[in-house]
Amino acid sequence: MKTASKDLTAVSMVKAALEKAHHYQPDYHIFTWINDAAIKKAEEIDRRIAAGEKVGRLAGVPYALKDNFLTPEGETTASARILEGFESPVTATAVKKLEAEGAIMIGRTNLDAFAHGSSTENSYYGPTKNSKDLTRVAGGSSGGSAVAVALGIVPFATGTDTGGSIRQPASFNGVFGFKPTYGTISRYGVVAMASSLDCVGFFAENTDDMDLLMMICAGQDSYDLTTLPDYYGKEQVFDDPVKKIAVVKDFDNEAISPEIRAALKAEAEELRANGHEVIELEMPALKYALAAYYIITPAEIASNLSRHDGIRYGFRSEDSGDLTALYQNTRGEGFMSENKRRIMIGNFVLSSGFYDAYYLKAAKARTLLIQEFDKAFRECDFLLMPVSPNPAFRLGEKVNDPVAMYLEDVLSVSLNLAGLPGLSVPVGETEAGLPVGLQLVGPRRGDRELIRFGGEIHKNSAAGSTERHADIMGGKD
Ligand code: GLN
Repeated sequence: MKTASKDLTAVSMVKAALEKAHHYQPDYHIFTWINDAAIKKAEEIDRRIAAGEKVGRLAGVPYALKDNFLTPEGETTASARILEGFESPVTATAVKKLEAEGAIMIGRTNLDAFAHGSSTENSYYGPTKNSKDLTRVAGGSSGGSAVAVALGIVPFATGTDTGGSIRQPASFNGVFGFKPTYGTISRYGVVAMASSLDCVGFFAENTDDMDLLMMICAGQDSYDLTTLPDYYGKEQVFDDPVKKIAVVKDFDNEAISPEIRAALKAEAEELRANGHEVIELEMPALKYALAAYYIITPAEIASNLSRHDGIRYGFRSEDSGDLTALYQNTRGEGFMSENKRRIMIGNFVLSSGFYDAYYLKAAKARTLLIQEFDKAFRECDFLLMPVSPNPAFRLGEKVNDPVAMYLEDVLSVSLNLAGLPGLSVPVGETEAGLPVGLQLVGPRRGDRELIRFGGEIHKNSAAGSTERHADIMGGKD
């Protein structure tokens, strides 16, 4: 990633990013807010460089911030009406760390309201469009961040991933997207979705940048007691360049589009050709992941969203003097229907009559899943899986069918339930020119090795891209 220097000013970098942001915004609808005042921060970096002062590892680098990270700059809305007008008094830890290294936020990016969704169509501000096809979704919930990187507006953007919100839009737009091991980056100052699954991560153009961003942002934080000490984990495994990769067999069926299955097959062959060992693995517990996710997540959402009452933050409905009516109207008008659906499901599965049948069962399925991943990583170094069952779908195709939308997440949510790291690696394109990404999954704390190996895969698939392209186009499986 290029940083500012005497020859390349921060002002020129930030100006170029802002110009691109304004250029693409009307068609793609990437940002909820563009930060034109970013130039001032760039001038300050240039002044420090001219004065010979030390500047950070991201000096002058423009970046985009998903609009569920709190900072006093602009409103933090999480693309939800109920947070309209909310100006945060605090700054998220991840943002503090990025800015301490000289990174400059040029805009806040669009998401599904409160990060509930897989297409960015649940945003109060309207959907973000796919970077390769304006008739298709950007993916979600971090759609704006993925498109900001894919269109070359910024070299990196932040995201949050509770069930795939970084990995899926990354794969829909042909960029890298990384969800770390749970607890690697502090969640302090990030609008909570489901606290036991939420992870902060990034979209980037390459794995070297991803590695640097992780190094900068990982670490313990007294404001988030679930944080881990660093990002290095078990680095010693790097010693052996030959890896054992398991392709999860359970996904080789018609629920996954032929193009995605072909990409997975081609990648497995390429790994073999490059001297790695590739095995097939059955993981039967994975089939419970989606059901468990759509019980556990709404339960946590219902609890986290109870704080939005029209009194403390953002939007407030008309006050008729009746407090209960004020709460009801504010929540009724301020939440999107997907937010409300999850609040209702969450309260239902936690209610005394249904707790055992739903929440407790889902919690048990989660444990089963964790055990199955543990077992898998006793047999291999990494798992290779699709990120989503299909490439980017059309705008409007699933937005009125919540179950179809939830099925989009069938391949991504298991990692969040188990707290594992996952990297979405761009590996090719469909005949229609839509990006295809595959997901590399590592053991808990295997983050750094995973990112490095993801870089290797990408390099190799770029080298073999002509053949790869033909394979995917033919949809052979
Ligand atoms: N698409 C998933 C959902 O709607 C994941 C969202 C996320 O990771 N924030 O729950």
